[in-house]
Formats: sequence, structure tokens, C-alpha cells
Amino acid sequence: MSQSEIDNLIELLARLPGIGPRSARRLALSLLKKPDSLMRPLAKSIIDTADSIVKCNECGNLDTKSPCNICDDQKRDISVIVVIEEVADLWALERAAVHKGLYHVLGGSLSAIDGVSPENIGIASLIERAKKEETKEIILAMNATIDGQTTAYYITDQLSSIDIKVSRLARGVPVGGELDYMDDGTLLEAIESRQPF
Ligand code: ZN
Repeated sequence: MSQSEIDNLIELLARLPGIGPRSARRLALSLLKKPDSLMRPLAKSIIDTADSIVKCNECGNLDTKSPCNICDDQKRDISVIVVIEEVADLWALERAAVHKGLYHVLGGSLSAIDGVSPENIGIASLIERAKKEETKEIILAMNATIDGQTTAYYITDQLSSIDIKVSRLARGVPVGGELDYMDDGTLLEAIESRQPF
């Protein structure tokens, strides 16, 4: 292996989110030290995954088939769809096992600054799914960011003419959270979305 190949590996690793040049060099070195037990299996796994990955035509999830394993699961509740921005959000909800229905991955959020408009994310396909007879509720699980909330308001507006329940995730004090450590926005949300005891 020539130096340029190693440099190329480091440069590619550094393109991954959260990996700077220093981390990339450390990762590359740990791979170089274990060519057979780590580097080749990793390379094979990456190629195998790249060859088999498809975007689900129904929900936008990434899987090895379309419809994906979640859309294809007969045991799931098809009347409830949770809308999220990214596949990572779907993974988080699946890890927590808190939702037994379906998902809709938008693939981003509306952003005036980044030039993301409704046509660029999966909003039209969500409206089509919402119109289906079996769909009874849409749960908006956007991030609590300005872009996330702009997206949630836009979708709510688009869904207003359809006879369907639209809800959003509760916001406020997290489990195990101490009030003294909360930011003002979180405290305001917690007070405004208070519930009867
Ligand atoms: Zn799917």
C-alpha cells in the first residue's frame, strides 16, 4: 500500500460526520493494524450494504427491500404514521420501542437558509398517505428546532382539509431532568403544555 492510498483512506474517513482529520488518522491506523480481522470485513460490509440498500417507496426508510421491513410487518398498526426528519430518528424510536405504527421519513426539514422547499422533502407523498382510508392519525415528530417546527406547521396546514387526527410530540422537562438546568425555551414549553395531575 502506498502512502497515497493511506492518505486517500484518511481523507474519506474524514468526510464522515463527527470525524475530523485527527480522528480519521486514528481510525485509519487502527484499520491498518488489523487488515484481516477488521479492515477487510468492514470493507466487505460497506460494499455489501451499498449494493443492497434501497429507499422504501412507501415511507422513505432505508432497508434492503421496498416496501421496507416495517411497512411490510403485518403486526404493525397501519392507522398511525409518525413523521420524522431522518432515518436516524426512526432508528431512535425503534430502539425505544415506543411506536407500533408506521413511519414517514421526510429526508430533511424546510429551511429558507439552506433553500429546502416542500418539493425537496417527502411532503407530497405524506399527504397522499394521509388521504388513505386506513390512515387515522399523523404524529409529527420533527426536531424542536426552528426548521423542524416550520416543517410541522407547514404539514399541519397541508393536512387541515383532510379528516384526520394530527398530533405532535409533547415537549418540556425530560425524564430525570432538573428545572435549574433547563433553558428558558424548555421551561416555557413545559409550563405551556402542562397537564392535569
Ligand atoms: Zn417503509
